[in-house]
Amino acid sequence: MKTIAAILVETGQPLEIDDLEIPKLQPGQALVEIHCSGVCHTQLLEAKGLRGEDKFLPHCLGHEGSGVVKEIGAGVTKVKPEQKVILSWIKGSGINVLGTQYEWRGRKVNAGSITTFSRYAVISENRLTPLPDGIDMAQAALLGCAIPTGVGSVWNTAGARPGHSFVIFGVGGVGLSAVAGAVLAGCCPVIAVDLNDDRLELARQLGATHTVNPKAGDAVQQIFKLCPGGVDIALEATGRPAVMKQAVACVRSQGGVAVIIGNSPEGEMIALDPKQLNQGKQIRGTWGGDNVPDRDFPRYCELLKAGKLNVKPIVSTPFPLEKVNEALASLEHGTVGRPIIGMI
Ligand SMILES: [Zn+2]
Repeated sequence: MKTIAAILVETGQPLEIDDLEIPKLQPGQALVEIHCSGVCHTQLLEAKGLRGEDKFLPHCLGHEGSGVVKEIGAGVTKVKPEQKVILSWIKGSGINVLGTQYEWRGRKVNAGSITTFSRYAVISENRLTPLPDGIDMAQAALLGCAIPTGVGSVWNTAGARPGHSFVIFGVGGVGLSAVAGAVLAGCCPVIAVDLNDDRLELARQLGATHTVNPKAGDAVQQIFKLCPGGVDIALEATGRPAVMKQAVACVRSQGGVAVIIGNSPEGEMIALDPKQLNQGKQIRGTWGGDNVPDRDFPRYCELLKAGKLNVKPIVSTPFPLEKVNEALASLEHGTVGRPIIGMI
């Protein structure tokens, strides 16, 4: 059996679209028919070769999606054929299978435990979570990365409470999900910072109370005008060290928390004035929002179904897989919240 897939053959070059031969399932794997995949900054960095040396070329890509299980390998008990699933890079329960290889024109194409830029994909059991009925499949794709990373960073990592003042730097898919999470947690004000006014408008649709465009003046100064003394929580979702410094600068002394989410290009560093730490500011990293998928993903699903967690404005009109390079470009140039690739 074959599947159409987007393949990274050489970094810095457009992804190639072609048919791959699907291998026989190993124990602990499932074959999933993918309905929708999100496109995340991580894939942009991979495609551009900005994550360091890529030893796995040629390889498949993608780490968040929604789909339907078609076949299961020996030992798989978490999901069954014809079950809807969330595909996520975040490890949950179940068997961990390191990766797989597809056949392509007499060559091998590598794939990790999860890849999603294809019509069908072989996925490790522990990257799958059952998806209940009643959730739009494009929005469900965001449950693989953008929602758990964005919302989880607000709730789990930063520990947001009603009344906390909150700022998010960078409102792409993760940052917009963080806005939705901060609004649901009762944060106030909720301030969104981005260079792109269209994205700031999306943040307002999701309930951001204020927006800041650094083109209109220094972002930290604008935030201090809104929240004299600094904010309780600042999240950074741009992957730019200069912005990470701004996130630390704008939290209040004695307990303000800056959470660094963004992935930086390999080799970049942050330089900070250590006095900020003496003032009691805290800097936290996050492993994709510090989720336990088996505990947290069903919660996000219930909130989506109940209409309490609003992510509808985040998802783009789906791109067909053939236009995956346009989807990557739209992510880079900030024209949509989260580009979605629709396979069906
Ligand atoms: Zn991601």
